[in-house]
Amino acid sequence: MKATLLGTGTSAGIPIIGCDCPVCASPDPRNRRLRTSLYLEAGGQHVLIDTPPDFRAQALTHRLPRIDAVCFTHSHADHIFGFDDIRRFNTMQDEIIPAYAAPDALADLQRVFDYISTERVPGFYRPRVTFNPIDGPFSVGDLRITPVEVEHGHNTILGYRFDAGGCSLGYVPDCSAMSDAAIDTFRGMDVMILDALRIKPHLTHLTLKDSISRLREIGAHRSYTIHMCHDLDHAATEAALPEHCFVSYDGLVLEW
Ligand SMILES: [Zn+2]
Ligand SMILES: [Zn+2]
Ligand SMILES: [Zn+2]
Repeated sequence: MKATLLGTGTSAGIPIIGCDCPVCASPDPRNRRLRTSLYLEAGGQHVLIDTPPDFRAQALTHRLPRIDAVCFTHSHADHIFGFDDIRRFNTMQDEIIPAYAAPDALADLQRVFDYISTERVPGFYRPRVTFNPIDGPFSVGDLRITPVEVEHGHNTILGYRFDAGGCSLGYVPDCSAMSDAAIDTFRGMDVMILDALRIKPHLTHLTLKDSISRLREIGAHRSYTIHMCHDLDHAATEAALPEHCFVSYDGLVLEW
């Protein structure tokens, strides 16, 4: 299983426009965070999780070769507004690409991107995508994908558990609370990646402290924080984390 973290920042990205704080002005490249997205290679498949506004730059930086499926966690702008650039992969692969999301997020995607279809439209350069509502675990090739409902403010959205060839990954970039059942689903995974927005409480995201306590309960072999804002300096934050817990950064590649 190979996971490339294409982006690890909160919705504004880091640096934030017009901000001169020490993290936004930091020379440490690990403090430069694009909006969250994950590229997973497992079970013979190449799966993209979310298409943030930075998706085109991320695909170029990491020279993404193909996309067999796109899974969405939810329909907030920082997770969907790069969707149009999927069209380049339609062209390269000469294939229609399946997109998966919870029914409410799928309805938002179909509304926002109402010009997307499976058809080629002469004179237009549009993505060709099937919209697939998620109603339980499903497979893409030999990759097993288990949706896991988590709270994100007033919304219930999806995190994912991925399993292939005896390897496992949990991915929850946006989350303010997790049920015991959700924690059980992720318990003892190889790698767990979880929202940790900032130090101060926030209505729709976990604080660093709460994220670390959830990660401890889950007890993955390796745990990473994601979706961080400019309150969290990479080096200072990571130095204070418990064993087996790390701060993710853009371009981090995990392979196991
Ligand atoms: Zn987000
Ligand atoms: Zn800042
Ligand atoms: Zn969100």
